[in-house]
Amino acid sequence: MTLRFTVLGSGSGGNASLVQVDGFGVLLDIGLGPRQTARRLEAVGLGWEQVHAALLTHTHGDHWHERTLAQLCRLGIPLYCHEAHAEELADSSAEFNDLDQQGLVRFYIGSRAVLLGPGLRCRPLPLPHDGSATFGFRFEALEPSATDVAALGYATDLGTWGAGLAHCLADVDALALEFNHDVELQYARGRSPWLIRRILGDAGHLSNEQAAELLAHVLALSQPGRLRHVVQLHLSQDCNEVELAVQAARPVLDEHDPAVQLHTASQHRPGPTLTLQATPGARGTLRSLRQLTSARSAAQPWLPGWET
Ligand SMILES: [Zn+2]
Ligand SMILES: [Zn+2]
Repeated sequence: MTLRFTVLGSGSGGNASLVQVDGFGVLLDIGLGPRQTARRLEAVGLGWEQVHAALLTHTHGDHWHERTLAQLCRLGIPLYCHEAHAEELADSSAEFNDLDQQGLVRFYIGSRAVLLGPGLRCRPLPLPHDGSATFGFRFEALEPSATDVAALGYATDLGTWGAGLAHCLADVDALALEFNHDVELQYARGRSPWLIRRILGDAGHLSNEQAAELLAHVLALSQPGRLRHVVQLHLSQDCNEVELAVQAARPVLDEHDPAVQLHTASQHRPGPTLTLQATPGARGTLRSLRQLTSARSAAQPWLPGWET
């Protein structure tokens, strides 16, 4: 099964990406308005017709948009979020409450895997960030009869990382990772001490150096040759530059595998659609789809943990 990943926009001005498996599309964060989302989708040959579900990382304002919630309502597209997100959005968003009343709000729980669509499984990865509950995700595209999986890791908006996260992001075909800022630029751009402390803190955002260290750990834990693409996410407009983010990541990739392609996501235009195929013999951390389907009861939309 092929997994496709397209960043539509990334940064504090609005975040949205599309994850697709076998024609089923998931809008990962809804931080662009509906028309802007449509324009970005159109630019890569897609449209709202390819969106079948939406998935929320957290409730900071650059990750959801009131009018995009209204669009989900209009199109009958379900939104997957954490219970904590629902509590916050119920207090602040009329459109979220409409979506809820239509039965279109669904929950993921902790780090339990959830089947978002046929053959598309996702595991939430809790991240340390000051946006209350914040999650990255590991997506896997599953063949009903195969153990090989195409996998994508996605982690943005995190102040620090640990061995557990690196382990969860290992053995993916593409890794989308926040390279938020250059530490020197944080101090050089006249920002308030409070903001600098927040961004550099353990509940803020990853610097280029922190992200490069996480990338090195993920590569060390992964099967040689498995990772094909790295996508740099959520670059700060004021305190980062594409060249600095690339200078942090490229040497790490060159040391492990120079063939890995490096992409830097833009705030203003969509990136390329990455097409990820299951690598024959690739190690999957998950059970096969058949096993999961049989383990799942009709009354329980949540899959049990994917530990084998
Ligand atoms: Zn953000
Ligand atoms: Zn955030």
